[in-house]
Amino acid sequence: MADRDPECIFCGIVAGAISGSFVYEDARVVAFLDINPVNPGHLIVIPRTHAPLLADTDEETGAHLFRVAHRLAQSLRDSGLRCEGINLFLADGEAAF
Ligand SMILES: [Zn+2]
Repeated sequence: MADRDPECIFCGIVAGAISGSFVYEDARVVAFLDINPVNPGHLIVIPRTHAPLLADTDEETGAHLFRVAHRLAQSLRDSGLRCEGINLFLADGEAAF
C-alpha cells in the first residue's frame, strides 16, 4: 500500500494540502481537531501513512495510536475544557466511519 492516497482527505491533512489544526505530531502519528466536533476537544489521531484499516498499520503503530490517544486524553482533562468523560472510538474501515 502506498504511504499516501491522493483521494484520501486524511492523507491530504497529513501532507498539508488540506488545513488542519494539529495538536500533536511525531514520526508515526498526527492528531488534530475534528472539523465537525461532537464535543469541544474532539480529536482525531491517525497514522502518517494511509491506513483505511487497522490491519494496514503495523502493530507498533497501532499501539502508538493508543499511546498518543492516552496522553491526549489526559491533556484534555488538564486543559480547562469541561470534560466529564472521554470516548475513545476506533473507526476500522470506511463502513465504520
Ligand atoms: Zn489516507
